Amino acid sequence: VKNAGKNSFGFYSPHMSEARRERLSLENDLQLAIERREFVLHYQPQFSQRSGQMIGMEALLRWQHPRLGLLAPGGFIALAEETGLICRISDWVLQEGCRQLALWHADGHRHLRLALNLSARDFERKDLLERVVAAPARHGIGCDRLEIEITESLLLDDAEDVIATVRQLRQHGVRVAIDDFGMRYSSLNYLRRFPVSSIKIDQSFVRDLGRDQGAASIIHAIVGIAEGFGLHLIAEGVESEEQARRLADLGCEDMQGYYFGRPLPADEVLEWATP
Ligand code: C2E
Ligand code: CA
Ligand code: CA
Ligand code: CA
Repeated sequence: VKNAGKNSFGFYSPHMSEARRERLSLENDLQLAIERREFVLHYQPQFSQRSGQMIGMEALLRWQHPRLGLLAPGGFIALAEETGLICRISDWVLQEGCRQLALWHADGHRHLRLALNLSARDFERKDLLERVVAAPARHGIGCDRLEIEITESLLLDDAEDVIATVRQLRQHGVRVAIDDFGMRYSSLNYLRRFPVSSIKIDQSFVRDLGRDQGAASIIHAIVGIAEGFGLHLIAEGVESEEQARRLADLGCEDMQGYYFGRPLPADEVLEWATP
């Protein structure tokens, strides 16, 4: 086995071939998951500290796998991206999320926004704009109630197409947020080229708040960036009252995290939060 080249391990190791079989079977299951109605969205509320109001929900995908149980996205999103299945999944997320948001709106929660996550692969589609814009329209929701979360890495590719798509989404009123902001890249230059509307402070900074001064300094800097660029700012991964207070002191008013509420199925998430 040793030194026999890159692929040989997979042929000879029972462990690797087991892993490969697992992957293949998961890929097959993933192909069928949409028609079998195995995906579910959980929703996590986003709060405004200042008003005490719930301002929106982030839709987080779950897969009710027939054998493996409820899977978090960490267990299958990468595979969905590699196989390209993610685009069909994203279509489903858009439809299902907007359908649910329409129900909440009809229930009197008219101010609620829906945030959902798209992958870089979604931006390779020529028809992404049409698909995103059509989803809220189909359910009688304004485009301005929808927020697309994308990661910094997509923006760093600096592809003209991606810039154009983000700009067109914004022109239709769709909000675009940079997820996990501050995590990977030291260059902020892309902010000048991308007309995004929000940034989401990565949860690692929130976690380290109170533990090291560096995290507070970075959040302080991000607050300044958001102000300078006129961007909405929200922090995620807020787990304690102390973190919420420190964030507010630093000037970050909007928050999401276990302290305010865990991601839950639609019928449970609004139970404790009345309009
Ligand atoms: P993300 O977009 O950064 O989502 C935040 C993750 O942190 C979620 O994990 C959420 O459940 C978790 N979280 C929320 N509050 C807290 C907190 O207070 N403390 C801690 N420790 N964690 C918290 P989840 O649901 O497992 O999702 C993981 C990632 O999967 C997401 O990260 C997102 O990148 C991706 N994802 C989720 N849904 C979708 C989807 O529909 N499409 C795509 N393409 N990706 C998705
Ligand atoms: Ca997100
Ligand atoms: Ca995030
Ligand atoms: Ca993340």
